[in-house]
Amino acid sequence: MATGYVWHELYGWHDTSSHAGLLPPGLVMQPYHHFESPESKQRFHSLVEVSGLADHLVRIVPNSATDEDILRIHTPEHLARIKAESATLRGGDAGDGTSPFGPRGHDIAALAAGGSIAALEAVLAGDVTNAYALVRPPGHHARPETGMGFCIYANAAIAIAKARAANPDLRVATVDWDVHHGNGTQTAFYTDPNVLTISLHQDDLFPRNSGSIEERGEGEGLGYAINVPLPAGTGNGGYAYAMETVVVPALRAFAPDVIVVPSGFDASCYDPLGRMSVTASGYRALTRQLMDVADEVCSGRLMMTHEGGYSPTYVPLCGVTVLSEMSGVPVDVVHELYASFDTMPEQALNDFQKAAVDRAGAAVKLP
Ligand SMILES: [Zn+2]
Repeated sequence: MATGYVWHELYGWHDTSSHAGLLPPGLVMQPYHHFESPESKQRFHSLVEVSGLADHLVRIVPNSATDEDILRIHTPEHLARIKAESATLRGGDAGDGTSPFGPRGHDIAALAAGGSIAALEAVLAGDVTNAYALVRPPGHHARPETGMGFCIYANAAIAIAKARAANPDLRVATVDWDVHHGNGTQTAFYTDPNVLTISLHQDDLFPRNSGSIEERGEGEGLGYAINVPLPAGTGNGGYAYAMETVVVPALRAFAPDVIVVPSGFDASCYDPLGRMSVTASGYRALTRQLMDVADEVCSGRLMMTHEGGYSPTYVPLCGVTVLSEMSGVPVDVVHELYASFDTMPEQALNDFQKAAVDRAGAAVKLP
């Protein structure tokens, strides 16, 4: 079993400028980082190296997504606007006013989409069993006509669309465990019965009014979008229950050729933008559940592409732990000082979390 890994130094050069969180510099308080800063991603990569894990992974070198690749998902107007703003000295914004990018923003975003493409192609070619694309900027909020939520281009959707263009019979399932709704990926395939999109997310966090259990796809795609909105505070027990009772049965029923995970670590107990309680070992357990069902239905083919996660000191622990599970290389980077997170009361499934998951499960009607 080989595990592929994508990283490129330019992913750390995507410049979101000196915000104070979401606030533009100087608006209210002293400028600091934008929430979507390079820190959590670069430090994730550093820990992949320093933990020794990198020695056991197959490095996959990304190429930039082409205009043709990007235009399978996005409108020509969106691509043209990002390119034009990217060519200025001041850069621009992906589309919602909170997603800034600097000069060369298009080039780095195209390289991020290219990272997802390369990882998925390596899995589908059988070069590796599974792969993690540690890319930046993220992609799962980007809609065809606009970027949003720190995302410029829809990395996962672009990779899936390219793979399906090469093989129209290919059936893909996405399992988005970022704490925010995977609205962009869902939109890209909302009428497509060949791509099942599943999103586990904090209920009504971002985008607002998005990701309810009533969003189930349209037309031929009806039933092929599944949303599992979870109450704020949900921890390892609630996520494992959702995976066991909703996600895994749906994956068994759909039987995809490959599973793609838009992977955010902002459902962690340390994230400044989410209110969930998942720990690194919780992410390991979710990874195991996905690997087991991937073994059952699609010969283990699993590709993860990085999305959110804004704790510079906890995202690396979650990321390396997931990669350890994917690769089977026994690396434990979680210090015993953090072990108590796993036994906090919020890690147990409670009645209202169970009820929310059961409602989501009851709404699933795969044709
Ligand atoms: Zn997120």
